[in-house]
Amino acid sequence: MKTKKSKQNSAPKKPKAKKSKNHQSRPKKHYHNVLKSLHQKHQHQKHEKVRELEAIAAELAHENGAEKSRNGSGGKKEVIVKVKEFNFFYNKGKKQALFDINMDIKENTITTFIGPSGCGKSTLLRSINRMNDLVEGSVSSGEILVFDQNIFDYGYDVTELRTDVGMVFQKANPFPISIYENVAYGPRSQGVKKKNVLDQLVQDALEKSALWEEVKDNLYAPALGLSGGQQQRLCIARAIAMHPKILLMDEPTSALDPIATLKVEELVLNLKKDYTIIMVTHSMAQATRISNYTAFFLKGELIEYSSTKRMFTNPKDKRTEDYISGRFNG
Ligand code: ADP
Repeated sequence: MKTKKSKQNSAPKKPKAKKSKNHQSRPKKHYHNVLKSLHQKHQHQKHEKVRELEAIAAELAHENGAEKSRNGSGGKKEVIVKVKEFNFFYNKGKKQALFDINMDIKENTITTFIGPSGCGKSTLLRSINRMNDLVEGSVSSGEILVFDQNIFDYGYDVTELRTDVGMVFQKANPFPISIYENVAYGPRSQGVKKKNVLDQLVQDALEKSALWEEVKDNLYAPALGLSGGQQQRLCIARAIAMHPKILLMDEPTSALDPIATLKVEELVLNLKKDYTIIMVTHSMAQATRISNYTAFFLKGELIEYSSTKRMFTNPKDKRTEDYISGRFNG
């Protein structure tokens, strides 16, 4: 693979990546040069986000307003995430985790990523909001477009990306503060100060996460006192309090019992009308229960990507068939 700059040029040859950018090899001084303007842009965007959240809260106060700010038109679904010839490497290029991935994800759908452990599902998921930037020595090539903009473009605002693309992890990770403060945390850190606005956003997020009825009389109790399933729904509430457009979920139910799992699944299905959900799951039953589309990965390659119904009834690839019928053992 060709990388543009010499510093991290040690990536192995396969696959035939184009002269695409090595996203982590840009000279540091350029980052420094754009830092100031990015900061100004970020401040401006922060103010815009506060205005957006205040407007949403005002609409919510007049009932069912949140939907209006989203495309509930029911028309043809647009592609919201486009992955193009995407390769990903760990350890400064020594370990390639993803090979030439191409996929389009449509808005207001649920897409599940399946495949054996280590096949790259989480790596791709975490690339969509550039969480992998935090992994030292990681390198990627190709493009991921979110709302038609390549998130690896020079000067792209990662903070804004992460407000648009929320994340829920495998293990519920509420902050050791109250239930209310967990949910208010995001809007507050964006600059929302008005108590009535925060109250509205917190209630809405907890309602959408199917947790409100269980916690409304106890909002100031410690979040860590909730059950595992409740904690995971709280983390979903925390993510959606920022009104993202896309929710990434990395095996959100793998640590939950079957009843808590079903609750989260029900909730995810409900969220689809407002959000685009991309979820890694180890459970093929879960993929069939909730997703519109399924992507099957094997050793870093996207083997098959189609409607869930088609994948589980009439897979195109023999390897998919083997995996979903339990014959795959590698
Ligand atoms: P999955 O989600 O399908 O289990 P991952 O995306 O976590 O797979 O991992 C894909 C491959 O990348 C695996 O071989 C894994 O060992 C490797 N990998 C994941 N994270 C790291 C990391 N931080 N450093 C080095 N290799 C990693």
